[in-house]
Amino acid sequence: MGSKPESIVVLTGAGISAESGIQTFRAADGLWENHPVDEVATPEGFERNPQLVYEFYNQRRRKLLSDEIRPNAAHSYLAKFEHEFEGEFLLVTQNIDNLHERAGSENLLHMHCELLKMRCLNSQLVFDINEDFGFDTHCRCCRSPGNLRPHIVWFGEMPFHMNKINQALESCDLFVAIGTSGNVYPASGFYQTAKIRRARTVELNLERTGSGFDEHITGKASEIVPSYFDSLLTNY
Ligand code: NAD
Repeated sequence: MGSKPESIVVLTGAGISAESGIQTFRAADGLWENHPVDEVATPEGFERNPQLVYEFYNQRRRKLLSDEIRPNAAHSYLAKFEHEFEGEFLLVTQNIDNLHERAGSENLLHMHCELLKMRCLNSQLVFDINEDFGFDTHCRCCRSPGNLRPHIVWFGEMPFHMNKINQALESCDLFVAIGTSGNVYPASGFYQTAKIRRARTVELNLERTGSGFDEHITGKASEIVPSYFDSLLTNY
């Protein structure tokens, strides 16, 4: 057991929400919920077929808001840990679902933005949205249709909050990646940034992904997240 961590950055990916009933993105075959990612998760895909893209995110939003989708023990334990841990804690998620906030996480950054938000292409203003929207929806700021897009970072676009994230990574002493394949840049390089100040790096995943982490713990997020973070609270 090393010294007690004082500053922790946790990165989560689609794997933490898998046991809540939300499918992960299958990088191996390039499909997201049976759609090629370049159709539904790129600016070019949106330009080519906006109808398909609106409908894809409308379906994901409807499912997220249905009774069947709830935070699981991994989301809940991270929120509990954040409230009990006495040092600095930042949770960065690549997920576009709202399961971390529903579980009670507070110091949380959505680097790939959120399914329950839409953005005006003219003003870049962001609005909450809990229902379907599309090309015909009138924008709340410009009052005309055709200006709204899902507030999602697509492949080829710059993730949000990168300054804050990099600052936290450069000053943390423990970095933990949970349920992320390490295929999506720049999140895939976060463990290297964390190592600049010699942070300990730990991967919690169903299977071992990269080899650059100091420690790999394999298993289901709902089991290994509570046990790992519990050990951080009690074993020092
Ligand atoms: P990914 O889908 O590429 O990889 C998921 C990882 O989670 C895999 O390494 C897998 O082994 C692991 N995993 C699967 N089930 C698990 C479980 N029960 N416990 C622990 N680990 C488990 O995910 P990614 O790296 O986050 O990249 C996907 C991209 O697609 C992200 O950018 C994200 O924005 C988007 N996406 C988001 C959601 C969501 O919001 N829930 C879902 C799908 C895709």
